[in-house]
Amino acid sequence: MACGIAISAFLAFRVIDNKAAFPAVNSARIEVKPAVDLIEENYNSKNFDGLYKFKYKVEIIDTAGNILYNNYNKTTGREDLKSASGYDLNFTALNKNVVRYSSPVIVNGNQKATAVFYIAKNTVVKDNSHEEVFMIFLPAAISLLLTIIILISHIFTAKNQIITPINEIEYSTDAIIKGNFDKKIKYNNDTEVGRLCASFEMMRDELKNSIERERRLETSRKELITCISHDLRTPISSIKAYVEGIMDGIAKDKETLNRYLSVINKKTQVLTKLIDDLFEHCQIELDKLDIKKREMYSGEYLEHIRDELSLEFKSSGQTFESAENMPNVLIKIDPVRIEQVIYNLIQNARKYTPEDGKISFMAEIEDDYLKVSVKDNGAGVDLTDLPFIFDKFYRGEKMRNSDKGGSGLGLSICKYIVERHGGQIFVESNENGSNFYFVIPKL
Ligand code: ADP
Repeated sequence: MACGIAISAFLAFRVIDNKAAFPAVNSARIEVKPAVDLIEENYNSKNFDGLYKFKYKVEIIDTAGNILYNNYNKTTGREDLKSASGYDLNFTALNKNVVRYSSPVIVNGNQKATAVFYIAKNTVVKDNSHEEVFMIFLPAAISLLLTIIILISHIFTAKNQIITPINEIEYSTDAIIKGNFDKKIKYNNDTEVGRLCASFEMMRDELKNSIERERRLETSRKELITCISHDLRTPISSIKAYVEGIMDGIAKDKETLNRYLSVINKKTQVLTKLIDDLFEHCQIELDKLDIKKREMYSGEYLEHIRDELSLEFKSSGQTFESAENMPNVLIKIDPVRIEQVIYNLIQNARKYTPEDGKISFMAEIEDDYLKVSVKDNGAGVDLTDLPFIFDKFYRGEKMRNSDKGGSGLGLSICKYIVERHGGQIFVESNENGSNFYFVIPKL
């Protein structure tokens, strides 16, 4: 736009300049040519009457400045030859409607006189001011048009890329306020507003997930109270029944007595685990779970755990696999808590794997981390449960309705402990089994 105005201004100055500096000399010359011819032809006879037919005034001035003839009255006089020569710019400037043009009268190769013509301006100076105005303002007009087109296209772009997505954000926000987290927004990722929309979408997704998680947790919590009362009542009832049996003398021989005592022992372990989990969960919630880290080598530590585990598996139908030598690197851990994590993963593997299943306990070095894994060939974690099993109180859908006791707290406690060691815990699972593993940094 500014460019167009600049061009227009430049043209306007040029035209003004040209108008002053370039009067229509050629037009005047052409206009008077027949008259000059007539004068020259008749100069010797001095019969200039033919000049009356021309529409303009003519003066013929001899070389001494005397007016020999004019075609408007018969008076004679003198004329200033200097001012009457050529196209008189000064005269033209002073006289609005007339231009003065003079031409030499040449007879036989000699200038005999000067013919001065007073011509109506409009016959030699064409009034093309309309065209000039048009030409001057054309660049400005084109620029204005272009500016309007660009503005309109900007408005359209702004509407598509800014206003529409912002409206969508507004609708989606309203929907979120009303509890509907499913209203997705459409956007183009290449713009600033697009990026804002992408962040908004991420926030909406995150909110939706956390609300769903909250709801699931709430359900889990309610179920937990039912489960805990059930899980506490069941072992307590059977312990009570077996103790009463022993007191009533039903276990007559040593073998039966041992069997009764072994059941009581198993049920007590279940109770202890349940109560321990609940206790530790409360401590985590209160941020009071004690973790006392110290530097130690991993080899001997892991091998000791492996040996204890293989002893425990001796009396079960499940197979236990482990490595001869465990990697030996310097780590800084709370040995009791990390052992607790490993035992929890092993207990889960045993719980969720059939009687003739196989469980392995391995460790390896991966980059700057020590990786410890517990693998089983059980039924695996359902895909729908997978994202939530490390959440507090979450129990797999199938496990909730099974006779396998549990608080849904074990894995969340493991996760907490591993993360307090600067590590991470993961699971890979399918219908052929699960692989739970955690990594902790080596020193
Ligand atoms: P729970 O007391 O129910 O075992 P956890 O927090 O230890 O609680 O485990 C949470 C859920 O993860 C379990 O209810 C179960 O659905 C699933 N899970 C954990 N370990 C395994 C495994 N080795 N195989 C299959 N599912 C598992």
